[in-house]
Amino acid sequence: MSSALTDACGRFAPSPTGALHFGSLVAALGSCLEARARGGRWLLRMEDVDRPRCRPGAAARLLTTLEACGFEWDGEVMLQSTRTARYREVFEQLQAAGAVYPCACTRGELAGAPNATPGIDGAPVYPGTCRSGLPPGKAARAWRLRLTGDIEFDDAVQGPQRQNLPRDVGDCVLLRADGLFAYQLAVVVDDADQGVDHVVRGADLLHSTPRQIYLQRLLGLPTPAYAHLPVAVDTAGNKLSKQTRAAPVDAAHPAPALFAALSFLGQQPPAELRRRAHADFWAWARAHWKLENVPHVLTLPAHHFYLEENP
Ligand code: GLU
Repeated sequence: MSSALTDACGRFAPSPTGALHFGSLVAALGSCLEARARGGRWLLRMEDVDRPRCRPGAAARLLTTLEACGFEWDGEVMLQSTRTARYREVFEQLQAAGAVYPCACTRGELAGAPNATPGIDGAPVYPGTCRSGLPPGKAARAWRLRLTGDIEFDDAVQGPQRQNLPRDVGDCVLLRADGLFAYQLAVVVDDADQGVDHVVRGADLLHSTPRQIYLQRLLGLPTPAYAHLPVAVDTAGNKLSKQTRAAPVDAAHPAPALFAALSFLGQQPPAELRRRAHADFWAWARAHWKLENVPHVLTLPAHHFYLEENP
């Protein structure tokens, strides 16, 4: 059902850790409308690389809910869990180039390290303990990417961004202690392999983007354009998530959530659209979508647009 008119390509990449809630619906809608407005394809990728966090049946339920909302994606859904061999190939390329190094530090050691300062997203910056070799008698647990220098990019919603990688985030793990490849590696490889040239996603990932751009450059991959949408937060200011018990979007009656998601994205749909059929919603949304109308903020309270039935 491809309606692609150009080579443009966007994607929605949920992690199947729970049901589709209002926050993920916003990312789905924004990424889809932007891809279609550019005459491009819109792909769906299940980010199930972090298997311990995935819930059985969640991926199937996400697809059912997206379908019930009237989303139409192009091609097969990509599953990260089927891509380990590809991630390994890229990881070995990084190893051969000396871009990654083994790290023996445990989470507890890092949390207690006297020289670990909090980074831009609150997580401790890796203090570099294993950067120039494993301490004597210590064995490798994970592998980290050696990050250097500044990265600048222009976010289509959030404006110009600049990050000093060693100071603001520090060397990130690409191969985890449990043997799984990390999101930061998987997302870069997948976006490139799928030809994604526009990434539209939640602003909770804004601070991850510079290290992803760094990795793209290291691997000689193109850098997509980025647009980071406001993240839907609850009354306490926390991102809606399974942990905050965000209510699932009701697959039997998704119209109110869809309407609210479009309003959340600054598009001002007419009130009567709330009661109209799906086809009318999508026709209006596609005809009127403007990325420049999305509020240039990192978070927005969901309850201003959408009242959840659950607490
Ligand atoms: N899988 C991530 C999430 O659900 C999104 C990653 C991305 O869009 O790059 O938060």
